[in-house]
Amino acid sequence: MRFHTFLLKYGEIGIKGKNRYLFEDALVRRVKKALEDVDGTFQVYKSQARIYVDCSEEYDYEEAVEQLTRVFGLVGICPVVRMEDRGFEQLKKDVVAYMDEVYPDKDLTFKVEARRAKKTYPKTSMEINCDLGEAILEVFPQTRVDVHHPDVMLHVEVRNEIYVYSQIIPGAGGMPVGTNGKATLLLSGGIDSPVAGYMIAKRGVEIEAVYFHAPPYTSERAKEKVVDLAKLVARYAGPIKLYVVNFTDIQLYIYDQCPHDELTIIMRRYMMRIAEHFAKKDGCLGLITGESIGQVASQTMQSLAATNDVCTLPVYRPLIGYDKREIVEIAEKIGTFETSIQPYEDCCTIFVAKHPVTKPNVEVIRRSEERLTEKIEALLETAVDTVQVIQVE
Ligand code: ATP
Ligand code: MG
Repeated sequence: MRFHTFLLKYGEIGIKGKNRYLFEDALVRRVKKALEDVDGTFQVYKSQARIYVDCSEEYDYEEAVEQLTRVFGLVGICPVVRMEDRGFEQLKKDVVAYMDEVYPDKDLTFKVEARRAKKTYPKTSMEINCDLGEAILEVFPQTRVDVHHPDVMLHVEVRNEIYVYSQIIPGAGGMPVGTNGKATLLLSGGIDSPVAGYMIAKRGVEIEAVYFHAPPYTSERAKEKVVDLAKLVARYAGPIKLYVVNFTDIQLYIYDQCPHDELTIIMRRYMMRIAEHFAKKDGCLGLITGESIGQVASQTMQSLAATNDVCTLPVYRPLIGYDKREIVEIAEKIGTFETSIQPYEDCCTIFVAKHPVTKPNVEVIRRSEERLTEKIEALLETAVDTVQVIQVE
């Protein structure tokens, strides 16, 4: 069956009044962007609280659907067959042919749901429902009508043409990216942080990312892995500006000056400081991490408090109450898991102590950091000045 159009449904909660067109316009932009690289040409427009995509004669249906299922803000994607209005008798035949092709197995219940946008049409919605239902029952006697819980809800919309659809492919939900500001994701090569970025983007937040690498302790390949992960997140979140910060000298200096059991916490505090620098420069309104309470020593309540201590922007930790198993489930669903588990070294694991503190005291950590002289300021400045910016699409 060739589908000529997609009818895109979005949730209407919280988008009343003035916000509505902002929401719709952002959604139209995101839909256009998602279809940009799909074979075919697509006209995306809004009409009567819906978004439509008219497709060219030839296009890649599977790919178009796959792209659309990644657009946040859509709750349903309905492939539509458009039929020319050639009288009601012809419509009956066309609708029967539609049912035959889309549902090879006729052991089903259905309901016809007509909508008459064109008020001059010679039949009322009620009559269309009854007469089309009858026509289907006549040709396919195994089918039954169920007006309460039908297997198939057959929508017939009479406009200048007649739109017929019955399938609703579930959308990604959430809010269109670009409707809720921008935040900076601390993106490592692990399983958690790509999922954290996905979850915040799902709420309509545009994402920038910062990755800390430590050459030569971490390889070029480890960096490529992070770029790959950013690309996978960008399939949902849209283009991501990725800052790659060389963290080596800062780590070595901390390693030199501070108690080794506090290394991880102090390093994480410097990561947050640097991430916040880039966040503020670009107008990002928060930081995002993949932390979850108790997962490792640096994520106990005390450690999280010690890390938070240096931040002035809010830190969003969407995975805070998730178990690893639940995080892995999402990583698999969004397609980042396979890349995340590729074995490449991470800068945190190289300088990690055998027995890191699990209950750091903020005061103690602050005092340890006082051992770092103005040299740390110079190192921070160099790290910021030598940052590599990669635009990920
Ligand atoms: P992940 O699976 O995301 O790597 P993790 O369980 O390995 O997380 P940590 O290494 O303690 O946990 O990191 C906690 C969070 O700190 C990460 O989710 C990420 O947001 C941030 N982070 C850690 N290392 C880096 C890094 N090298 N660059 C950028 N952010 C990092
Ligand atoms: Mg990690």
